[in-house]
Amino acid sequence: MLKYKAEQEGKVYLEVDRWFASSKTCNVCLNVVGSLSLDIRAWTCERCNTHHDRDINASINIRDEGLRNYPWEAGILPVEGK
Ligand SMILES: [Zn+2]
Repeated sequence: MLKYKAEQEGKVYLEVDRWFASSKTCNVCLNVVGSLSLDIRAWTCERCNTHHDRDINASINIRDEGLRNYPWEAGILPVEGK
C-alpha cells in the first residue's frame, strides 16, 4: 500500500532490514550500544558523546540506511520535487 502510494506520487519507496538497530546506533559515529530498553527516551553515545533523542536518532538512521541501500545506478533521484 505504501509502496503503491509513493510510486503514484513519483516518490521512491525503500525498505530497511527489520533487524537494523536504528535506535541503538549513534547516527553520528555509528557506534552501536549494547542494550537500550524501551523506557529510555534519550541517551548519550559513549564514543562521540553526542546526546540523542531516541526517536529522532532512529529516524535519521532509517533515512541514512535507506539512502545507503538506494540503487543509485538506476539513475533516479530519491527525492524529486516536493
Ligand atoms: Zn557516537
